Amino acid sequence: MTSGATISDPKLLDEYNPFLSMAKGFDQAADILGLDEGLREVLRQPERELKVSLPILMDDGSVKVFTGYRVQHNFLRGPCKGGIRFSPDVNLDEVRALSAWMTWKCSVVNLPFGGAKGGVICDPRELSEGELERLTRRYTVAIMDILGPDRDVPAPDMNTGEQTMAWIMDTYSMHVRRTTTGIVTGKPLAIGGSRGRREATGRGVMIAANQALQLKGWRPEDTRVVVQGAGNVGGIGALLMHREGYRVVSISDMYGAIHSERGLDMPAVMAWLRDHGRLEGFPDAESVTHKEQLELDCDLMVPAATENQITSLNADKVKAKLIVEGANGPTTAVASAALHDRGVMIVPDILANAGGVTVSYFEWVQDRMGYFWTEEIVNSRLEQIMVDAFDEVAAVAEQHDVSLRTAAYILSIDRVASVYRLRGVFA
Ligand code: NAD
Repeated sequence: MTSGATISDPKLLDEYNPFLSMAKGFDQAADILGLDEGLREVLRQPERELKVSLPILMDDGSVKVFTGYRVQHNFLRGPCKGGIRFSPDVNLDEVRALSAWMTWKCSVVNLPFGGAKGGVICDPRELSEGELERLTRRYTVAIMDILGPDRDVPAPDMNTGEQTMAWIMDTYSMHVRRTTTGIVTGKPLAIGGSRGRREATGRGVMIAANQALQLKGWRPEDTRVVVQGAGNVGGIGALLMHREGYRVVSISDMYGAIHSERGLDMPAVMAWLRDHGRLEGFPDAESVTHKEQLELDCDLMVPAATENQITSLNADKVKAKLIVEGANGPTTAVASAALHDRGVMIVPDILANAGGVTVSYFEWVQDRMGYFWTEEIVNSRLEQIMVDAFDEVAAVAEQHDVSLRTAAYILSIDRVASVYRLRGVFA
């Protein structure tokens, strides 16, 4: 926990529990919607949870058994969609919370998908390429009864990427006896990936920031931005924001943060990161700690690294007046409420980082059509969807006088609930 927190206090354990945090957001929105108890009960629980044991032949000849999960929260609006993460911290509570988040995320940007999430408890740094491939393939086989382009379509998440998706696609295709590119998204371009997918989440973050700036009446040139995380979301988001005229004054990676009040030359920063493997040492900036970075004087903060970074322990020290959540769950519910009370606008994760799943949707559509779009088309359709979703969420926030987070939940829960009412309870 880089914000300096230790989770020994039971109150913090609750605050950091992603499932409780999600349930809080859900309940608040359900109260405002006047959702009846039965429907609440239905939407609060995942529809299906699968736990699998994965015996893997290790390189040294031994057999090790790993545990994996796939949780399908809801498939009322279409096939389930959601990433697969490989991490020692994977647990069922987390996978459940993330699967529900995916339902609300797909709904807020109005994609015809439900939500799912998967995970395997493992430390990929300790596994060879061959072991990782065997683990991925075995996991795919173990969950493939509930997968399918019309049922559940995985994507990359923490510690999984294009190669993992290629292995999943191949394993699934071998079993169904035909190449089925639409079984996963986030694939390499050569096997049915989409142009613009790699940049999509960062681009979506930038579009969300642009929309928030319009609400605030700010200009990018006057907006000092602190970005936590320099990966797919934070690094690309910062680069695109820099290109758009924003003044990115700080960015961090897992080792620390760099800061320059004049503004960082983001293309040079990303080139440095590529060449050196870490931000530290970048010549035109001072080093700051993770904790100091979150307390820097700035206008906009983009937490785009991991969850539980802005918490009850540091929310009062955050100086940004606008937060655009690139990561999933970077602000705890307690911190979010405190910041809202202080007038800080938060563009919530389910809206701000939905660019990734939106272009995943485009990838799935292109795979099904067997016809691939140009990057310009992908980017302009992404922009349209993000702008429309942002405007809808902002309108709901104004109508109910609530935060953008609560508004995003209201909009997405209402959409899922109305489909439920139309389809009825299957008996
Ligand atoms: P990534 O692995 O590409 O990058 C993560 C970055 O954060 C790296 O630069 C890493 O060094 C840095 N980092 C890790 N821990 C840190 C810490 N404690 N403090 C500061 N920096 C730290 O991951 P990503 O794909 O960019 O994902 C980041 C977040 O965004 C995750 O919460 C992920 O679930 C979420 N997200 C990603 C996507 C996507 O399309 N990649 C879509 C939606 C949400």
